[in-house]
Amino acid sequence: MTEKPLHPRTRAVHHGIRRSQYGEMAEALFMTQGFSYDSAEQAEQRFIKSGPDEFIYARYGNPTSRMFEDRIASLEGTEDAFATASGMAAVNGALMCFAKPGDHIVSAKALFGSCLYVLDVLARFGVEVSYVDGTDLAQWQAAIRPDTKAVFFESVSNPTLEVIDIEGVAKLAHAVGALVIVDNVFATPVFSSAVAQGADVVVYSSTKHIDGAGRCLGGVICGTRQFVREVAEPYLKHTGAAISPFNAWIMLNGLTTLDLRVRAQTESALAFAQAMQGQAGVSKVIYPGLPDHPQYDLVQRQMGAGGTMVAIDLGSKEAAFAAMNRMQVFLISNNLGDAKSIVTHPATTTHQRLSPEVQAGLGITPGLLRLSIGLEHVDDLIADMRQALA
Ligand SMILES: *Cc1c(COP(=O)(O)O)cnc(C)c1O
Repeated sequence: MTEKPLHPRTRAVHHGIRRSQYGEMAEALFMTQGFSYDSAEQAEQRFIKSGPDEFIYARYGNPTSRMFEDRIASLEGTEDAFATASGMAAVNGALMCFAKPGDHIVSAKALFGSCLYVLDVLARFGVEVSYVDGTDLAQWQAAIRPDTKAVFFESVSNPTLEVIDIEGVAKLAHAVGALVIVDNVFATPVFSSAVAQGADVVVYSSTKHIDGAGRCLGGVICGTRQFVREVAEPYLKHTGAAISPFNAWIMLNGLTTLDLRVRAQTESALAFAQAMQGQAGVSKVIYPGLPDHPQYDLVQRQMGAGGTMVAIDLGSKEAAFAAMNRMQVFLISNNLGDAKSIVTHPATTTHQRLSPEVQAGLGITPGLLRLSIGLEHVDDLIADMRQALA
């Protein structure tokens, strides 16, 4: 299928499919660990070099997983992708596959807790990690050194929805030849041009919007063919990061409807955020798509929309808990990107491990609620929040 003239939504429906001899319409689920060979010679040959439709073992690759990889690479605008068992396997793999003792990495400090853990593991093996306020280009400039090997950040941070200037950071990193690795979960492939803006490697937890219904864990590393197949794949296939073919099949089908879902959820998120502005009981609304977001211009330039996540501050832990316990449509959980709307209290759950000082530094106040806007009617979500605040 020609790739260039088609819109992302079209590519997300068709691209990457590998039809078997039966000409099936839907993507086939190849639920198999291994592959049999016609002859000993063929087996030998395949271990020397596998062709594009030749597989050896599902830890190395599988036709269904490959369909998901090809489809997400097509959407993200990268040459290739490797699918992993979870988003964290992708983050870990993208960093571990090249890092050596003595390497220097610069990272934004506002990160998903498990991402911080991976950077601590790297530090244990002699990698030097410097942390910066990701929204401040001057701090990136000061921290990036001639020997910096890579920079890492979440393009939209969790849970305070700060947006990092991919183009600005990439310029500084590329000036010293450092690799730009972006965790793009909150931006989603729908609102991402991360590679065009300078990212070398884009990582997703497909557990979130790509599955979109809270069923399976998965992740993916998108990048150049050279990075994905020559740098990342050897590490990933030998350390067991592979996605289950079943989960890849769920993700592949998730991509078909991703654009529609994420755009609908984003439209609701904006309407929800607007409704919360000036709402009694809400002291602060953070949404990248609101003009009062500190990086509104950057958001418009980089993403074109605010995404599916909203944060609101209710002033105290007591007020936040009381509202959560009264909510009937929003479910209390710590996932995001689900069709079902979710409310999370980061200070006591996802970011509980951080000290109160570190939490305060990251803007994780006791009254902060993180809301993942789902596919319900937005009026029901607004009404649920209002009755919970009453
Ligand atoms: C959820 C998440 C991850 C980890 O993904 P899993 O699939 O849970 O392993 C990494 N980064 C961000 C920003 C996330 O939201």
